[in-house]
Amino acid sequence: MLPRMGKGEADMNRKPRQSGCLSLGFIKKETALPSEERMGKGPVVIIECVEDIPCDPCVESCRNKAIIKESLTAPPVVDYDKCTGCALCVAACPGLAIFIVDCSRGEKALVYIPYEMLPVPREGDRGDALDRSGKRVGSAEVAEVRKEKRGTTVLGILVNKHLAMDVRSIRISERSDG
Ligand code: SF4
Ligand code: SF4
Repeated sequence: MLPRMGKGEADMNRKPRQSGCLSLGFIKKETALPSEERMGKGPVVIIECVEDIPCDPCVESCRNKAIIKESLTAPPVVDYDKCTGCALCVAACPGLAIFIVDCSRGEKALVYIPYEMLPVPREGDRGDALDRSGKRVGSAEVAEVRKEKRGTTVLGILVNKHLAMDVRSIRISERSDG
């Protein structure tokens, strides 16, 4: 089963400036998310950038030209058919506003997140899966660590599939031996 897209109906109308963080309901209202069919096919970008902001490293980073901004201040728009889920834009975004969700892996989803804290986690580390407000919503395991020469470190974390559109960070509590 793909992650539910309707969680957070109660906070659908909460604006980020009132709550201090984005909600899935607000993102659904403000952006065109990929279809469930596209999400089930493999990794795909989720851009949670809803402000008009003079910034475009995401556009420049995408070799497939999947990200478009109509003007420098317009929010980015994605052509999901062109996105391969490579995560280059995740590392390039200074706003830490881009994620990759891969729901094509059975019971678990792989969510790529930008991660700026130290120490950099290692593969096999485990911890709490956190939502956009920093609340624990489940458990997560680091499956992949990408240290980019330029840009933000990107972690691939495994979470239960139904949490794929909720989990946006990890709080490490168990370090692996590796
Ligand atoms: S994940 Fe890769 S292909 Fe998809 S939008 Fe980002 S840079 Fe482009
Ligand atoms: S680089 Fe990040 S913050 Fe800048 S427009 Fe793109 S998604 Fe938004």
